[in-house]
Amino acid sequence: MTVFTNELMALLACSQQGYALFDSDDVLRFANNAFRAALGMEVGEFPSWLELMRNGYRSATGTSIETSDFELWLRSAKSRRGKLPFRTIETVLKDGRWVLTTETTVAGGWMLCVVTDISELSVELRDLRQERDGAMKAALSDELTGLGNRRFAMEGLNQILGPNKAEALAVIILDIDHFKAVNDRFGHAYGDEVLKHFASKLSAVSNRDDLVGRIGGEEFLLVLRGSRMLSAESALQQLLASLADRSPFADRPAFRYSCSAGVAIARPGESASDMLLRADAALYQAKSDGRNRYVISQAQV
Ligand code: GH3
Ligand code: MG
Ligand code: MG
Repeated sequence: MTVFTNELMALLACSQQGYALFDSDDVLRFANNAFRAALGMEVGEFPSWLELMRNGYRSATGTSIETSDFELWLRSAKSRRGKLPFRTIETVLKDGRWVLTTETTVAGGWMLCVVTDISELSVELRDLRQERDGAMKAALSDELTGLGNRRFAMEGLNQILGPNKAEALAVIILDIDHFKAVNDRFGHAYGDEVLKHFASKLSAVSNRDDLVGRIGGEEFLLVLRGSRMLSAESALQQLLASLADRSPFADRPAFRYSCSAGVAIARPGESASDMLLRADAALYQAKSDGRNRYVISQAQV
């Protein structure tokens, strides 16, 4: 097969559409001039997607982000990024242009982003589309933590485990320890702070390819696919260590909390509900073994 690399690169360089490639760690590896111009990036800059969003928010460049809680916004955006093979997002740039971004993702691999200026197109339908996108986002996300909600997590897990999609994966259920006591001792608002704090720590140990969601009051789901499955233990150790490290409350520096987790590694042909049952049983074991730990569901022989 002939590969027209030089021709392709020359065309991308002068295209008015923005093209970018992000690797599996969500670090920018290629961007043409139009993409750099849209996102306000200099030639030679190769930030991670998180850095790109943070830099854009701080400066007057890139995507226009309307939020009073940027970290919540970022967590929410991260929890939806790269979960589908293909998706489209409509956004406004700080320079006033409207752009349509498409993201094509290979599971466990790279992502192609294509940014098209649609400022001239169908202005009348814009509000309608934005309303629809907002409603879809709200239906699948948890307002308090910014993570995906139960429906998002369960639909995601069922999709991963759908017919003919045998895949290596780890399903992890996490539950905050003695959470009721936090509410009882300090009040509901402090309880909510702990939930947000936990969501940020869980999000921090997750990769773009992972599925993360809040599936109950103080219960969360983490799904690691493919070779990421092998990182289950290190991700959980990192999470437990980060909770033990410092208090989520500036005014109560001595306070600490922990979580327990149950891990189920997929067996061939296993359904989502069976995996969840096994992860739940392992979580129960972690609780009765003393909490602040994870237990991996052992295969029955
Ligand atoms: P364990 O270590 O066994 O998990 O004990 P626990 O206290 O964490 O578990 P339990 O199920 O007894 O309590 C969960 C509590 O979570 C009860 C409920 O009031 C509280 N909760 C659920 N959703 C929210 C929320 O959105 N905000 C706050 N502040 N509390 C919540
Ligand atoms: Mg619970
Ligand atoms: Mg609990």
